[in-house]
Amino acid sequence: MEKIIEEEKQGTTLKLESKASNTRKLFIESYGCQMNFSDSEIVASILAKEGFNTTNRLEEADLVLVNTCSIRDKAEQTVRKRLEKYNRVKREQNPNMKVGVLGCMAERLKAKFLEEEKIVDMVVGPDAYKDLPNLVAEVDEGRDAVNVILSKEETYGDIAPVRLNSNGVTAFVSITRGCDNMCTFCVVPFTRGRERSRDPQSILEEIADLVSKGFKEVTLLGQNVDSFLWYGGGLKKDFKKASLMQQATAVDFAQLLHMVAAAQPNLRVRFSTSNPQDISDDVLHAIAQHRNICNYIHLPVQSGSNRILKEMNRLHTREEYMALIDRVHAIIPNCAVSQDMISGFPTETEEDHQDTLSLMEYVKYDYGFMFAYSERPGTMAARKMEDDVPEDVKKRRLNEIIDVQRRTGLERAQFFLGKTVEVLIEKESKRSDQHWAGRNTQNYMTIFPKDDYKVGEFVMVKVTDCTSATLIGEAVGYSDMAGPLTIEND
Ligand code: SF4
Repeated sequence: MEKIIEEEKQGTTLKLESKASNTRKLFIESYGCQMNFSDSEIVASILAKEGFNTTNRLEEADLVLVNTCSIRDKAEQTVRKRLEKYNRVKREQNPNMKVGVLGCMAERLKAKFLEEEKIVDMVVGPDAYKDLPNLVAEVDEGRDAVNVILSKEETYGDIAPVRLNSNGVTAFVSITRGCDNMCTFCVVPFTRGRERSRDPQSILEEIADLVSKGFKEVTLLGQNVDSFLWYGGGLKKDFKKASLMQQATAVDFAQLLHMVAAAQPNLRVRFSTSNPQDISDDVLHAIAQHRNICNYIHLPVQSGSNRILKEMNRLHTREEYMALIDRVHAIIPNCAVSQDMISGFPTETEEDHQDTLSLMEYVKYDYGFMFAYSERPGTMAARKMEDDVPEDVKKRRLNEIIDVQRRTGLERAQFFLGKTVEVLIEKESKRSDQHWAGRNTQNYMTIFPKDDYKVGEFVMVKVTDCTSATLIGEAVGYSDMAGPLTIEND
């Protein structure tokens, strides 16, 4: 029998699903992208069937799992620090606890992880989570356990995730796994394998289940959602070998968006992450056609220089990217766009850097994720290119990129001053227990006094102030779930 344990944190109730009959305790924490957080909910579900309930207390856990990220060296250093912490707890408070590493760092290092980190008993790659019951049994018998086989089919579409630290309002739903785009700086294709998509029926069922539990928003997740293509299972790259019937009845990302939005008209739909070389205008039209698909696209570009884009194996030019941005704004009114940017990619000159700054001036992003280049072992860039841009130059260029983003971000946020926007209340504001926080369709966090409103409600908020990332205002009533999402005030 399932039971919901309610836990007060910051004035918002976090729900931990648990089974009364389960006696073992699982502590699981995640780092990196939303895919990792979504995968950890799959892992919790698989282990719930093996007698594990989740706990937030390390010192009482029988099994400690960390879902790791390998996107930059810093992310891996963070994991190694956590393992030191586990070591202390094991030594001082919990000698029987077993430790496992999941995710991209586990896939990158494989069995070497056991040699490098003695505290680790188990190494499991992103496609091997269904083997956890066997691996845990091996560890219980005192043996180390490793499974890092990448799959051609696995989408975990038949696993109902256990929502971890959930606010009960928003949830991730993974729709595709892996990535076939071999960007030269990126470790993901090596740690998450080839692209494969999930059966739309299982996606719609998971979403219907979330709606029945009161969730109000889903984010469709994938390393590259625009590459979503369901044709009965198997790798995207084998689509051409499929039967004519399979090809004729295949479901691409735009069609999936229409299906989800139409099936649940009162549910907000977001998605991440898009890729400029794969996104279609059909996706843009699907967003424009459905009120409940949010007017926001995360569209990583990484550099504004055509020469660097080529070195990165990004299959578009700056001009094609700018034309795409023009189409986004032409097709979707008031659409917000965010970016990923890398400073200091190998051979990057001052001129290339200026191209990045001028592209940002043209696009005027709402916000972004900006990092200095971090060489990743095994990638094409690491194998073929010297990491030749000095660290201080990388840092200076990164700061210049962040400065442009801060300025254009503020300009974009100021667009909402005096307007009224629809907001879904998610939680209490970090800064005040008298204020709610929630996002508008453009993904801006919006803060306003609680009054009598509640978490999970859609309210209309008049924006009176802003920072480059946050809107501040007053709630003026409930949303009728039909009218405009952003209203000009007279
Ligand atoms: S699109 Fe490029 S950057 Fe994104 S996950 Fe795939 S390989 Fe990595």
